[in-house]
Amino acid sequence: MQKTDLKALIEQIYENLLERIDAEEEPTKGQVVTYLKDAVEIVSSINDKEIDSIEHAKESFNNSYKELVKQSLTSYKSTNQKFGELTQRNQETIEKYTSQQIDLDILSTMFDEIQSHMIEEVKKANEVIVELTEKVKTLEETSNLDPLTKVFNRRALTSYLSEVCSNKGVPYSLHLIMLDIDNFKTINDKYGHITGDKILIFISNILKKTLRDGDKVFRYGGEEFTVIINRNTDEQCELIANRLLTLVSSNRLIYMGERIAVTTSIGVTKLHAGDTPDSLLSRADKALYISKRNGKNMVSKVCE
Ligand code: GH3
Ligand code: MG
Ligand code: MG
Repeated sequence: MQKTDLKALIEQIYENLLERIDAEEEPTKGQVVTYLKDAVEIVSSINDKEIDSIEHAKESFNNSYKELVKQSLTSYKSTNQKFGELTQRNQETIEKYTSQQIDLDILSTMFDEIQSHMIEEVKKANEVIVELTEKVKTLEETSNLDPLTKVFNRRALTSYLSEVCSNKGVPYSLHLIMLDIDNFKTINDKYGHITGDKILIFISNILKKTLRDGDKVFRYGGEEFTVIINRNTDEQCELIANRLLTLVSSNRLIYMGERIAVTTSIGVTKLHAGDTPDSLLSRADKALYISKRNGKNMVSKVCE
């Protein structure tokens, strides 16, 4: 998994976790543990085989998420109950000794006991967190879905292209479009990283909505997307690329009343017999570079 994918995944888990904590009146460490455990299960449920079905991958993600909410609520109740019992004992101890003569030795023994129970609970929760962090690390390597934009990730692209290029000859036309957001660093600096993330989601939604079934969208890097167009002519692909360019640049994204101008640069190429994933991608990259060099917000094509 790419570093950017990993970061986006962790950020999403983190954001969801904060939302869940905000939704509870008295959140506990036990809930955090359960949430992370469920997050691991979600990541693990997305497997390599699902590369040909983004809908399937999304559905399994959504189902796991619903399950997560149910499980977290159950776990919240039981963890809360444990802490509730300990708090109750604490309260009873205080009440008992306000009406009697205080025996400091007994009192401190009782409080020590309650405290050690609490420490034990927190220790258990920490151990599970460490274990789950390790699992998330291992499992994300098998994930094919970009957690932020819900399109396929770069790992999925590599495996898809390896498969395509391993076929002898080119049985049908395949075009590759590489799209890179212009001046995204400046956009992030001006409007903040969260707005930047929303723009990434916005663009991936445009890509998903605009393309036909059978076309595939991948997040290639931080602010770069790759689109695979199957069985189409050179002219049609150029039209599609130009349409994407216009759809992004003409949309009105508003941040605190101000319009955010977002444009993209696009490179288009086509699969040739004998191509490797690297040779195909580097041709698309060359085309993209031409668009950047010639002023951005444009489509360029490199076919040889
Ligand atoms: P150019 O027009 O030449 O493409 O310039 P650029 O600023 O878009 O390109 P550059 O490579 O300098 O910067 C890319 C920026 O994309 C830097 C990085 O902070 C941002 N970025 C990468 N991944 C993410 C992400 O997941 N979320 C957000 N918000 N920003 C990201
Ligand atoms: Mg870039
Ligand atoms: Mg860029």
